[in-house]
Amino acid sequence: MACDGGAQKKTYVSTINLELKPSTGQRTASVKGCRTENGTLLVTRLRDKENPALDRGKEVKPKRKTYISTGPLVEFLDPQEKVQVRVGESAQLHCSFSSVGPTASCWIHNRKKLVVDGECTHIETSSNSSILTISEVRAMDAGSYTLFVRNHRGTAQHTITLSIRDRPECPASCPYVSQLTPRSLVLSWRGPSYDGGSAITNYVVEMQSLGPSGTGDWTELTNQCKDTTYRVHSGMHSQGEYRFRVRAVNAIGVSEPSEVSDCIRMDTAVEPQEEPVLDVDIVTDSSHKVQDHYNIHEKIGVGKFGQVFRLTHKETGRVCAGKFYRAPVSRDKEAARKEIELLKQLHHPKLVQCLGAYDTRSEITLIMEYVAGGELFERIVDEHFEHTEPNSMQYMRQILEGVLYIHRKSIVHLDLKPENIVCVNATGTLIKIIDFGLARKLEPGRPLMVMQGTPEFVAPEVINYEPVALATDMWSIGVICYILLSGVSPFQGNSDAETLALVTAAAWEFDPEFDDITDEAKDFISKLLKKEKRSRMSCEQALAHPWMASSSSTSRVTKTLNKDKMRRFLARQRWQRTGKAVLALRRMAHLSHRSEGSDSPCSSASDSVLGREAEQAVASLEQQLRSQPSFFQAFHDLMEPCGATVHMACIIQGFPDPEVVWLLDDEPLEETERVQIQYKEDGLCTLTLAHVQPEDSGIYKCRASNYLGQALCSARLTVAR
Ligand code: ADP
Repeated sequence: MACDGGAQKKTYVSTINLELKPSTGQRTASVKGCRTENGTLLVTRLRDKENPALDRGKEVKPKRKTYISTGPLVEFLDPQEKVQVRVGESAQLHCSFSSVGPTASCWIHNRKKLVVDGECTHIETSSNSSILTISEVRAMDAGSYTLFVRNHRGTAQHTITLSIRDRPECPASCPYVSQLTPRSLVLSWRGPSYDGGSAITNYVVEMQSLGPSGTGDWTELTNQCKDTTYRVHSGMHSQGEYRFRVRAVNAIGVSEPSEVSDCIRMDTAVEPQEEPVLDVDIVTDSSHKVQDHYNIHEKIGVGKFGQVFRLTHKETGRVCAGKFYRAPVSRDKEAARKEIELLKQLHHPKLVQCLGAYDTRSEITLIMEYVAGGELFERIVDEHFEHTEPNSMQYMRQILEGVLYIHRKSIVHLDLKPENIVCVNATGTLIKIIDFGLARKLEPGRPLMVMQGTPEFVAPEVINYEPVALATDMWSIGVICYILLSGVSPFQGNSDAETLALVTAAAWEFDPEFDDITDEAKDFISKLLKKEKRSRMSCEQALAHPWMASSSSTSRVTKTLNKDKMRRFLARQRWQRTGKAVLALRRMAHLSHRSEGSDSPCSSASDSVLGREAEQAVASLEQQLRSQPSFFQAFHDLMEPCGATVHMACIIQGFPDPEVVWLLDDEPLEETERVQIQYKEDGLCTLTLAHVQPEDSGIYKCRASNYLGQALCSARLTVAR
């Protein structure tokens, strides 16, 4: 090997290797040096052949990377949070990120399934981005897509929610028939459990005429119905038999039809009686079946304890409602009998009237007057209905009149809520209270504790399992009034537990919707929603409250109240009532990007935990990153003057992080004050030699190794004299 020793002084330099055998004769050492022109031998290094490190007294430790960054492992750059597409369209989920060093990534659907390249999915990944394209999305593609990015420091993730707008699901119930007259009837149904990701705009109502020759075609009665009720007053003949079904419509399309209603015979139609006959002898018949006296028609409701059907009396044609209790065990039978016995005592125009009961071995049925107008709140949101504060006050007055009647009999209803306030007919403003299934008679000196009711409407003493009182109903009346005037439920939390916590704390305030509501109305509510039951207004006091006597003549109070919030309230109630609600809510949680938040009504630990397949996929990212060491950038031959500071730099790749040893002429170099090695997180490895001397000349190598292999990079340094 020869090098130019310098410009001024011509020096011949040769490398010699001498074998030295010490007198002990046990070890062999070699000397490395060079001889100048005049024969002087310059020994630069002495090496113990068996153990090179011994010549410095200790082993040279390989150099490991120094991590200095404190920032995130992987930084997602302004990532998408939500992507919304229509069913059948293509969805592109795009995630850019910055990371030190190489990365491996994968997409996981709904924290369970690894997304792979396939017919409909395409993944394009680079070192700083990943794009997932789903062509022709289907409803099942909706949900969360989490990109996991692994680099040498660890794993980072970002979730994008894909919501897919689709046709709505079909309405949750068949249309129920009410107000049947010889020429008209009213249909009402429940909206779909899932609106397909965009609001229901209207319903299509269809009718099928059943002639003697069988079933006719379905004809469309309207495609512009904006509510969940529709009056059919044309197209039906007095002898005709008809069936009905409805479809929901949103911006994307029309749903499948609902279940079909029972067949309606127009010739059996009789005007419903509005007021109960109070002087009838109400008996429980235990020797007949309901069918012996009544024709059973369509189902008009489903409750906690059973199903309610429309009935017509076989002789008189009177339309009634029959509640068929689900009472498989004797405890349920007792509860049914209790409701019947209690209802038999009640005769008031504001309370549903019991007309009789059947109690046989096989079933218990309560016969009631038929209250045809549907739930009050459903009526209020009808676009033709005038919703004002004075109107609301009239409804509250009627509720109070009915409740006053039962309170005077020491009966507490315990389940007062909007769905138990129904309208007598579809046009008038009369209401009745139904459902006395939870009602109880209070006995002096016998405190009654109950654990029942609906969280949003139940009073604090019920949740605390303290004795209930007549005042317990007054709390619920306060809640109903609050919702009636604002459409907002004062204690509604994100979960039942949260709702119950808000109730027990009596934590409520007036929603901004109350800005246009009179102070009297607000005072009325404030005097009912009192945590301490003794402080609440009684029914008498409520009826005597100034709000009840207020005039409706001022323009401010006759202002039409906003129905949008009430519509939303009803939509939520419908969801909660349908069996599909849980399923649909789950889906909504995915859509609303709350899947990992604790505030989601259905978020659970399992939402954030990965499924097995996903876990394995994320774990395998580490394997994908594994690679033998290699030099992304090498260092080159250098020629430096004596005394200079020399830097030799290279960039090393590989995972797990390679360890590095620098060598001079195959001898490991140890760090000293003069010899410094730096090895940074990004793989940049630098050897710095200060004040270089000619004897520092030689072949410098950088050796990087991990358990997968090793790589070498070398160059010559020549230091001039
Ligand atoms: P439960 O006590 O089992 O909860 P409800 O008495 O509340 O049952 O009845 C269930 C549904 O049936 C009500 O929400 C209402 O829609 C309907 N319904 C009950 N009673 C009548 C009635 N007398 N007239 C018309 N519909 C009724």
